[in-house]
Amino acid sequence: MGFNADNAKQSDVCPYCKEIIVRGAIRCRHCGGDIKTPKRLKIVPSWRRPFVMGMYFGVFLCLAVVVFYYWLRYW
Ligand SMILES: [Zn+2]
Repeated sequence: MGFNADNAKQSDVCPYCKEIIVRGAIRCRHCGGDIKTPKRLKIVPSWRRPFVMGMYFGVFLCLAVVVFYYWLRYW
């Protein structure tokens, strides 16, 4: 009585054994397989962090050069 509806909302299907597991679980309780949860665990690739940092640094450097250029020009 209402249990199935609630269970369907908060459950997911294991990609390995196709058993119903709790949504958000990181490990299947039936087969022990690791469940991927890309929506909850956003793991940034290691190569992207220095790339993003370098991009921010480049933008900051360009802005600094432009500001310094105008500062020299109007001084
Ligand atoms: Zn499983």
